[in-house]
Amino acid sequence: MPELPEVETVRRGLETLALGQQIQEAAVYAPRMLRHQNGGVPAFLEATRAFEITQVARHGKFLWLQSRKDQTIVIHLGMSGQLRPLEEVDSAALKHERVRLTFTEGTQTTEAPNHGVRFIDQRMFGATHTSPIIELFAPTLKDGAPPLRIPAAAAHIGVDLFHPELDLRKAAQLIRRSKSTIKSVLLNQQIVSGFGNIYADEALARTRIHGLRRASSLKLAQVVEILEQGREIMNLSLAHGGTSFDALYVDVNGKFGDFGEHLLVYGRKGAECRKCGRKIESLMSAGRSHHFCRHCQKPPRGV
Ligand SMILES: [Zn+2]
Repeated sequence: MPELPEVETVRRGLETLALGQQIQEAAVYAPRMLRHQNGGVPAFLEATRAFEITQVARHGKFLWLQSRKDQTIVIHLGMSGQLRPLEEVDSAALKHERVRLTFTEGTQTTEAPNHGVRFIDQRMFGATHTSPIIELFAPTLKDGAPPLRIPAAAAHIGVDLFHPELDLRKAAQLIRRSKSTIKSVLLNQQIVSGFGNIYADEALARTRIHGLRRASSLKLAQVVEILEQGREIMNLSLAHGGTSFDALYVDVNGKFGDFGEHLLVYGRKGAECRKCGRKIESLMSAGRSHHFCRHCQKPPRGV
């Protein structure tokens, strides 16, 4: 499943394809992808006609195209969503094309002319719909920061871990008030958005904290460090184009990410810990796998 670095990689690619373009028309091949659209397919087709793309932005795993009138076309990649240029003809991927945005002729401002974007999604957990921009003062923004300007549809999740105005100490204070395990708080996106299973496990391994510890049992400095490590590891991953564990995640050019070989614990069950040489373990908690080294990350009692 794409996490923050993968979605950001796709956003950067989408920016080169779509910024400055005007949408001539949309085509919807799988109405299920519009299940969050008010008014269904007809409303989507109407709202996207002559939509001028002045910004391509991201908040957590939500991507969106934004118009000058503060309308957005929100795109959530789900498990297997891909955005690919209209020019590209990859017959395997085309079987799963669900939504197409065709650009108006003559609005291309990029060097390599492109005539549209295909939303390809094999498993159809992804979604797209329109949503207006709202302003939001989140409790984790730095003092004096301007409000977030995000689609209403993405307002239920916390400030993005890469947002320059995110105050890590304020976020850590809120996280410590939670009754959940630290891993669940990171995954549920409510206080800080962007962590998925891979980078939550990696940030915890780098901070030497077991994911099943209660968030409230951690020191403020430890939680701040988890957030800092998460940001750092995701930045590194971004430099590598993200992490691909299967053929489902690729960037807009169909390229796989190659960060997987740098991971400390995720996907390494039974392999040697890179710090102490003992075996990496994995357990299931709340339906998600948690990878850790028992020696480097002391488990809570009973685990
Ligand atoms: Zn170890």
